[in-house]
Amino acid sequence: MHMDGKLIVVSGYSGAGKGTVLKEVFRRMPQCVYSVSVTTRQPREGEKDGRDYFFRTPEQFEEMVERDAFLEFARYTSSSYGTPKAWVKENVKAGKIVVLEIEVQGAMQIREKYPQVPLVFITAPDFTELERRLRQRGTETEERIQMRMEAARREQEYVCRYDKVIVNDQVERCADQLERFFIQAPALDADTF
Ligand code: 5GP
Repeated sequence: MHMDGKLIVVSGYSGAGKGTVLKEVFRRMPQCVYSVSVTTRQPREGEKDGRDYFFRTPEQFEEMVERDAFLEFARYTSSSYGTPKAWVKENVKAGKIVVLEIEVQGAMQIREKYPQVPLVFITAPDFTELERRLRQRGTETEERIQMRMEAARREQEYVCRYDKVIVNDQVERCADQLERFFIQAPALDADTF
């Protein structure tokens, strides 16, 4: 069978620091590309449409759901998030390592549909530290912080379904482990999608 690039799912509690770790791994591995998702949430300060997310209205989002344009999608903290299918397929075909940074419902959809795709979860050392990091980020209202902590508690029960769990206690060490996971991930046939 012909093999192309790779597809890897990275999840983690909001505030676990996965963005920082991923940035370091991407710096080390230029063949990695980040799949830009569609979301209905408002942009945070400094976020750019088409770079961080494609910011769309709920109507536009539903239209994509109906067209079957998503590889997976999920509702999370009263917003919707989805991975555009065509882009992922094209980049896997081009031999890239495509990284989906998605929450657990989406990761479970990928597991169900494409069991050969590896899943990795990044966590903070504990929930007290997680809440501290969320606050430190300073981009969220108290209400949104509490919503994110509740989401983390719900996500907890799915962590055991991931192929690997990495504790982000120190960025360099976490990045070393994630890089190894990316290298060991199996190649994929882009026609799977
Ligand atoms: P945030 O609003 O903090 O950017 O993202 C909230 C959560 O949604 C994070 O856990 C993030 O990984 C996840 N997420 C971002 N894009 C997608 C997507 O396309 N699909 C799914 N299922 N989750 C996503």
